[in-house]
Amino acid sequence: MEQYNLTPEQEEQLVDREFRDLLDGYLRSNHRKKVEIIERAFSFAKEAHKGVRRRSGEPYILHPIAVAKIASREIGLGSTSICAALLHDVVEDTEYTVEDIEQHFGKKIAMIVEGLTKISGGIFGDKASAQAENFRKLLLTMSEDIRVVLIKMADRLHNMRTLGSMAPNKQYKIAGETLYIYAPLAHRLGLFEIKTELEDLSFKYEHPKEYARIEQLIKNTSEDRDALYTEFAAPIHARLNEMGIQYEARNRLKSIYSIWRKMETKHIPFEEVYDLFAMRIIFDCPDLSKEKETCYKIYAAITDLYRPHPERTRDWITNPKANGYQALHVTLMGPDGHWIEVQIRSRRMDEIAEKGFAAHWKYKQGESDEESELSEWLSTIKDILEDPTPSAIDFLDTLKLNLFSSEIAVFTPKGEIITLPANSSVLDVAFSLHSEIGTHCIAAKVNHKLVPLSHRLQSGDQVEILTSQSQTPKPEWENFLSSAKAKTRLRKELRRIQQPLMEKGKQIFDKFLADKNITLNNNVLTKILGTYKVANREELFYKLGSGEISIDDYLNESTSSRARSLISKIFSLGLGGGKKKKEKTEAQPDTKAARPKINTKEKYVLKYNDRERNFVFADCCRPIPGDEVMGFINDNGEVEVHELTCPRAQVLKASYGPRIVATSWDHVAGSFHAVINIEGIDRHGILQELTGLISTQLNINIRSLNIEAHDEVFTCRLGVLVRDTDTVTLLCKNILKIDGVKSAVRAR
Ligand code: MN
Repeated sequence: MEQYNLTPEQEEQLVDREFRDLLDGYLRSNHRKKVEIIERAFSFAKEAHKGVRRRSGEPYILHPIAVAKIASREIGLGSTSICAALLHDVVEDTEYTVEDIEQHFGKKIAMIVEGLTKISGGIFGDKASAQAENFRKLLLTMSEDIRVVLIKMADRLHNMRTLGSMAPNKQYKIAGETLYIYAPLAHRLGLFEIKTELEDLSFKYEHPKEYARIEQLIKNTSEDRDALYTEFAAPIHARLNEMGIQYEARNRLKSIYSIWRKMETKHIPFEEVYDLFAMRIIFDCPDLSKEKETCYKIYAAITDLYRPHPERTRDWITNPKANGYQALHVTLMGPDGHWIEVQIRSRRMDEIAEKGFAAHWKYKQGESDEESELSEWLSTIKDILEDPTPSAIDFLDTLKLNLFSSEIAVFTPKGEIITLPANSSVLDVAFSLHSEIGTHCIAAKVNHKLVPLSHRLQSGDQVEILTSQSQTPKPEWENFLSSAKAKTRLRKELRRIQQPLMEKGKQIFDKFLADKNITLNNNVLTKILGTYKVANREELFYKLGSGEISIDDYLNESTSSRARSLISKIFSLGLGGGKKKKEKTEAQPDTKAARPKINTKEKYVLKYNDRERNFVFADCCRPIPGDEVMGFINDNGEVEVHELTCPRAQVLKASYGPRIVATSWDHVAGSFHAVINIEGIDRHGILQELTGLISTQLNINIRSLNIEAHDEVFTCRLGVLVRDTDTVTLLCKNILKIDGVKSAVRAR
C-alpha cells in the first residue's frame, strides 16, 4: 500500500485517474455504453463520501471505484452493477437514503444498493455464524437480483486485498468469514479466479506461518518442477505442432491454500501432493462446433505419449459442472513415474473457467443486455441452490453449505452420503447403517484418523465404522446419539439383550421370596431400589441378572435389620451371589493374583531375545519394534502389546485404565512380521527386480507375496520379517526406487 501524503490536488487527480480507468475498461467491454449514468453515480458517491478516509488514509471513494472495477472487469457486469457498486456504501455510511438513490438513479439500482446495505449489517455481519441456517434462504431471496451477491463479492475481494490496512481485530474475523462464506459462494457462482484469490488471502491471514512455509517450499522446489515440466511438455508440444493445432500451454501451479488443504485432509507432506502443478492446454477454436472434437484429438495424442491413470480422467465437457465448468482432465504418468495432470480446454472454456460470468458476455454476438443475460444465468444459479444433490454441486460446496444447516452430510468410504442431524456422532452413523453395525461398533476412522464412538462429526467427514463381534451396546451410548433413528435402534437392541438377564434376575429374586415364603411389599421394594439407585424393578432385575450389582452392597448399606436378614438369607442360599456372577459375566480374571510383578506406574521394559520374552503381540494390530505402542495386562497376566492407534487399544484404555502400562522397546531383538503394500505400473521383469532387491540386496526374508494386476496397474502385498520400523522405512524407500513403483507403505 502506498503512503498517502498527497496534496489535495494530487489526491483529486488520483481519484479521477482511477475512475477514468474504470470507464475505459467498461468501454472496451461488450456492454451497451451507458457512460452518463455511471459518471453521475461516481459524482454522487464522491460527494457523499467527501472528506472520509479509509483506515489506510486514502480517500474513501477509491474503495467504491475499486469495487466497481472488480464488478466490471473481473465479474463482467454492466452499467447497472457499476453504478450500484459505486454507490454501495452510500446508504450505510452517509446521510443519503435508498429513496435518494431511487430518485436519482431509478428503482433497479436503488434496490441493489438496498440489498447491499441490508446484508452488510445483517447476515454477513456479526451474526453470520449464529444465523447460519438462514443463510441459504437469504441467498435464495437475494438472488432475485443476483447482482447484489456479485457486488458483495467484489466488495469483499477488495476488502481482502486491502486487509493489511484494516484494524487487526477485524482482520481475523474478515478472513475467517471470507473462507467460510464468500469463497464457497464464489466457487458456486463459477468465479474460480476470485474464489482462489479469496482463499489464498484468507489463508494468509489466518495461518501466516503455514502460508509462508508452503510458499517457501514452492520456491525451493521450483527448479525441479520446471525441469520436470519441460521434459514432460516437450513431446506434447512436438505432437500438437505436428497436428497443426493452435494452442497455448501453461504450467499451472496449485494455489497455496489448495496445497495446504490437500496436505491436511490427506495427511500427507508437501512432497506427496502429486498434483502440485498441472499442464493446461488451451486451444484456439473459432468454430465452436469443433470444440469437443479437438479436445478429444488432443486427448488421444497425449495419451499416446504417456500412460493415463485409469481412474483420473474427468470429462467435464460432455457433462459440464453445474457451475458451467468445462474441460477434459487426464492424469498421465510422466517422466520418473510422476503423475501429472493435463487439463484440456478451448479458449472459451478457459475464460469461463477463470472468469465465470464475465466470459459469457464475451461470447455473445453484438451488444449484450445485462438484464436478459442475468435472468438466464440467475435461473441456473437458482437451480443449483435449490438442488442439494451431490451431483449438482461440487464436493467443497456440499461441505461448506451444510455448515449452515441443521443437518450434516458425511461420506462412507465408498462415497455414499449419509445425512444426519448436526452434532451427530460416529455411533449415529453406525446405527443409521444398520442396528448390527451400531451394536458392534467399537470405534471409527474419520478422515482416516481413529476416533472413539462418541466423536462428533462435521459435514464432509469421511467415516469408516470399525466393528467387533465382542462389542455389546451400552445404555450410556444414548448420551452421544443425536438422531432419533439411532436412539430407537439402540433402545431396541438394549431391550433385546437385557431381556434374558432381566428374567434371570427376576428368577433369582422370585425364587428367594418363594423359598423363604416372603411377600414382597412396596416398602421393602422401595428401599431396595433406593439403595441400588435403580429406577424400577426392571432395572433391578437386569442388574441382578447381569451381576452388575450384588446383594452384598445392599447388605452393607442397608439399615433395616429386616432387610438385612432377608438378604443375608439370599446369600446363604447362594442364589444371587453377586461377586461370583460379576466375574463370570465380565470375564475379569483375579487380576491381583495373575499379575503380581507388573508395576503399571513404571515403564515396562519389553524383552525379547533367545532366552527371554516377557510380552505378547496383540493379534489385532501386530505392532513391530519402533511402533508407538502400549501394554495391556491381559487376562492371563501377560503384557499384550498394542499399537497406540489400534481400535482395540482405544477401548482397553477407556475400560481398563489400571491395566494399561507404558512400555519401551529397548531390549527387543528379533524378527517380526510386517506387511508392505506396493503399487505401481506393471512392466516386464519388475517382480524379479522387487524380490531380488529385498532378498539379496537387503537380505530380508520374504514371508508372503501377493500380486494383483489390473489394467497395467499392479498392487502387491508383501509380507517380510524385519527387525523394526527403521528396517521397514528403509525397505519402502528402496522399493520406491524401482522404476514403475508408485507407492510402498506398510499396511496397517
Ligand atoms: Mn464496501
